[in-house]
Formats: sequence, structure tokens, C-alpha cells
Amino acid sequence: MLRTTITGSLPKPSWLAEPERLWAPWRVPAERLAEAQRDAVLVALKEQEAAGIDIVTDGEQSRQHFVHGFLERLEGVDVGRRVTIGIRADRYRAEVPTVTGPIARPRPIHLDEVRWARAHTDRPLKFTIPGPMTIVDTLADEHYRDRARLAMAFARVINEEARELVAAGLDVLQLDEPAFNVYLDEVASWGVEALHAAIDGLRCTTAVHICYGYGIPANVEWKQTLGGEWRQYERIFPVLAGSRIGQVSVECAGSRVPLDLLGLLAGKDVLVGVVDVATSSVETPEQVAATIREAQRWVEPARLFPCTNCGMVPLARKTARAKLAALGAGAQLARKDLAG
Ligand code: ZN
Repeated sequence: MLRTTITGSLPKPSWLAEPERLWAPWRVPAERLAEAQRDAVLVALKEQEAAGIDIVTDGEQSRQHFVHGFLERLEGVDVGRRVTIGIRADRYRAEVPTVTGPIARPRPIHLDEVRWARAHTDRPLKFTIPGPMTIVDTLADEHYRDRARLAMAFARVINEEARELVAAGLDVLQLDEPAFNVYLDEVASWGVEALHAAIDGLRCTTAVHICYGYGIPANVEWKQTLGGEWRQYERIFPVLAGSRIGQVSVECAGSRVPLDLLGLLAGKDVLVGVVDVATSSVETPEQVAATIREAQRWVEPARLFPCTNCGMVPLARKTARAKLAALGAGAQLARKDLAG
């Protein structure tokens, strides 16, 4: 009960990439990069295990960006043809690649990474892939010219990829869909349908992560416009509760999400964000345990997985390490209550 996990990413060691930066450039020459990334995965696994994290990830050590790491190896996406557009309903501007033809996956994308991580931990392994709606929202499209159709094209290649990852021993496939918190109507009209296509036939646990973004200034400013209570989840949780996705990962720590909304996810595992990634101040185990106890009012302990709010890649390494430790220790405190 109260098994812990993280959203996905951890900071990269400073010998691998420039620290405390999103999309940080690699510091290792191309011919030695894969080996260095593998070393970093070992460190990421070890740090999670030491902190008492039950369901571990590779820390996303082998990709520069959570969306583009997947797109780089697909056909139909011209990563060299970048344009600057407003993304997440124009919340911020980003340089994105262009879809110029039919989306196809000529070869596996993350298979080597999953095999490597699988071979080096005995714990359940989770791997994250960007969800179809979030991919579509992080691209310029000159071919499909229809967001729902483009999303289904990505869902198909995600599914091809995921089947191979599961065959390699993956336990949990998580699709990251921060765009679900922005395009609330589209979640019901095609977002969940695209998720279903992405997880079709998978013999593993499936999860979707929906947050309010990394702690970058554009997101912090956006959050300030959302009012005293953030009720986006109220619109999308009922749709997700009726979906075939097994787990929903949400942001709860230090946010203005009313926790009673978790009650709308009845029947799902809920990965409750009990560690804030938008601040460098480190939670105490008692604070983590308090958020877990509060969430337990709406989610039964067997379905409650204490987690981080979002990826920790932009944080300082020592901060992320301390937050991991607080997550593990806080969950341990909350488990003692249950036992006692
Ligand atoms: Zn997130």
C-alpha cells in the first residue's frame, strides 16, 4: 500500500548535460554519449532505490526533452525544420519541428533504454512517452492539418513502440499529457480515444500524467491566472474515470487543486503528487505524509501512489535527491499510520 513512484525525469549529472536547464545541451561528444547516458541511468535507478521509491524510471537520462526525444526518430517529422509557435493555448512560445508527411516508426525508439534499465533494477519499471495530444500541441503540422487525425497517427506509432517495450519487461507505460489540462473539450472529443489507441492490447499497467507543467516562469505566471481554486481536473477526471487507462498521475503538492476532486477518479489508481517541483524548498517527510493523509480521504491506500507533481529535470540535483528522500520517508510515515 502507498507504493511510491516518480513522474519520470530526474536532473542529469553535470558531466552529462548542463544542469538546471530544460533542453540542456549534452556535454559528452556524440561518440561517447550513449555510454554516458547508460551510466547516468544506473545512477538514477540507484538514487530512487536508495530513497525507497518502489516503482522506478530511467530518470529520462537519455533524452534532451520529453517530447522531442520521441519525435527525433520518427519519419514524417522534420526536426531540422523548426518554427516558433505559441503552445499550450499560447501560454508560451517554443521552437518546434514540422510534420511534413505520414507519421511512421521505421525502428524502435526507446527499446535499448528500457532493456538497459530493466537489466539493472529488480523493482517494477515505468517508462514515459509523450501522449498524442501533447505531441500534437508541440509541433507545426503541414501534412495532416487536423489535430485529431494527427493524434491518431501518433497513437499508432506509440502503440507499436509500447508493445516492444512491454515485451522487453516494462511494467508501467505512462503517457504524459499536460495538454489535457489546457484543451478540456478535446480530452472528451478525441484525447481519450487517442490514448486508447496508444495502449491498445498492452499487457502492462497504463498511466496518464496530467499536470500544470514544470516550474518554469511561463507556467508559474499561468498558474497565477487560474484563480483561488484550480478546477481543470473537475472537467477531465470523469472522462478519465470512464477510460481504459489504469492510473492517473496528478499534481497536488503546493497547488490550488481541491483534493476532493480526486474522488472523481473512483476505480482508478491515483498517482498523487505530494512533492512540488516548482520550488527548490524541500518538503519534510511530515509534510509529504500530511498530503498523503489528506488524499486518503478520497483515494483508498491500495490505489494511492505517492508521487512527484511533475518531472524533476529542471531542479538542482541535490534538491531532487532531497525531494526523493522526502517522498520515500513521507510515504513510510503514512504507512505506519495505516499499520498502527
Ligand atoms: Zn508534468
